[in-house]
Amino acid sequence: MAVERTFSMIKPEGVRRGLVGAILARLEQKGYRIVALKMLRLTPEMAAEHYAEHRDKPFYQDLINHITSGPVVAMVLEGPGVIAGLRRLMGATNPQEAAPGTIRGDFALETSHNVIHGADSPASAEREIAIYFTPAELG
Ligand code: UDP
Ligand code: MG
Repeated sequence: MAVERTFSMIKPEGVRRGLVGAILARLEQKGYRIVALKMLRLTPEMAAEHYAEHRDKPFYQDLINHITSGPVVAMVLEGPGVIAGLRRLMGATNPQEAAPGTIRGDFALETSHNVIHGADSPASAEREIAIYFTPAELG
């Protein structure tokens, strides 16, 4: 079987606060390989596709507004167990509940500005990778 891969994104709040290097360092130090990486600003259409599962949630419009508010850093990470492992490195969705030592636990205070996204399943990972990267960009 191919090495497991996932999709992650440093959200606009993380870029704005100059946390790109610190967050990438943690992911690399864990041992995950960055196989694709780009900075871009999401269009409203891309944001709606990315967060389609949350369309009917009360926080949806704020989520779309934030994720399109500035550039993000999108990436594909590879490594054994990377899907669940990234979720553990990120910490809980609400940064006030995220354990110290996790990215959200150390770098964020508000759920709406929790600085990093990570796909939650193999199907989500593949769906999200295809929104951001062409096959050629994935080497
Ligand atoms: N979110 C929010 N308020 C909530 C729940 C979620 O603003 O009550 C935002 C938050 O930025 C979160 C994103 O919506 O990261 C997606 O929510 P999800 O439940 O998928 O959390 P995640 O997978 O990012 O931990
Ligand atoms: Mg999610």
